Amino acid sequence: MKCAKCGFLTSWKRIRCPVCGSCMAEFHVNKGIVLESWKLNVTPEGLEESYYINLVKVENGKILCKSKEHLTEGSSTIIEDNVCRSL
Ligand SMILES: [Zn+2]
Repeated sequence: MKCAKCGFLTSWKRIRCPVCGSCMAEFHVNKGIVLESWKLNVTPEGLEESYYINLVKVENGKILCKSKEHLTEGSSTIIEDNVCRSL
């Protein structure tokens, strides 16, 4: 579980964040297969220089997630909180 407001992480089921009191959400850890990976060259100032956007096939559909490095199409990936990395 992860607090959407302050980012507090816990492995127990909780409805309210013990730190800030806002609602906790499921902390999604997902595995999938990379369908496409492309570099995002234009990023707003003050954010990461550049990163990759990946289209990943997961159990219940397709999702987009960010990654620091290029992921090979067809490879397995693990997605934690919208950031993926190769397995
Ligand atoms: Zn919190």
